[in-house]
Amino acid sequence: MIYSTEAVVLKSNPYGEADLIVTYFTKDYGLLNLFAKSPRKIKSRFGSSFEPLTYAKIAFVGNNEKLQKIIQSDIIHSFHPIRENYHVFMAVGEVLRFLLMIIPRKEPHEELFSLFISSLEFIEKEKKTENALLSLKIKSLRILGYLPDFKHCGKCKDKLNGEFFYSDGFILCKKCISSHSKLILSQGAAKLLNDINGWQLKYLSRVKIAPQLFRELEEFIKKHIQSILSYN
Ligand SMILES: [Zn+2]
Repeated sequence: MIYSTEAVVLKSNPYGEADLIVTYFTKDYGLLNLFAKSPRKIKSRFGSSFEPLTYAKIAFVGNNEKLQKIIQSDIIHSFHPIRENYHVFMAVGEVLRFLLMIIPRKEPHEELFSLFISSLEFIEKEKKTENALLSLKIKSLRILGYLPDFKHCGKCKDKLNGEFFYSDGFILCKKCISSHSKLILSQGAAKLLNDINGWQLKYLSRVKIAPQLFRELEEFIKKHIQSILSYN
């Protein structure tokens, strides 16, 4: 059976002498590791389509219990300018590692896939990388159901009154917080997080996010991902 889907290369690792294992974020199968037989020997056929961020229409074969083999890769968009800019590519790389950790394997995630593609297109065109990556992280967490409830305490379920104490994956009220949980999200940061979820990408090219709020959200997301990963 031949499978085909749209996909973006998240990473590729050498396998043996001349082969590659390519990790894709695919539109129809979520995260997928595929085997590329001697890509260096058949350059003319695949071009540079195994570079990270390459967006391609791919076809692959094999039993889905095993490592399947790529038989075709037609580049839709290379995102070459993003790879060429060292700082932008390093920043995007951090998000690729984040996506590698949280996207489920072999399940379709069309909404997340199209968010990912449109975020890369935005970064290539608008250059507002920081804003786009923050929004991509927050929206990815929401789409995958990992964003905590900011309306009610994660423990006692009481309504939260503008105080957001974060602990082990949940937002808690003041009563429920234990002394060792130190991360407190300001009202501004909590509101911004909620706002970003509703913003269209084009709005990100106009908006200026205060550095303090930006740092708060970055730290919150980092801690939250650690919690998610420790539960999974
Ligand atoms: Zn509570």
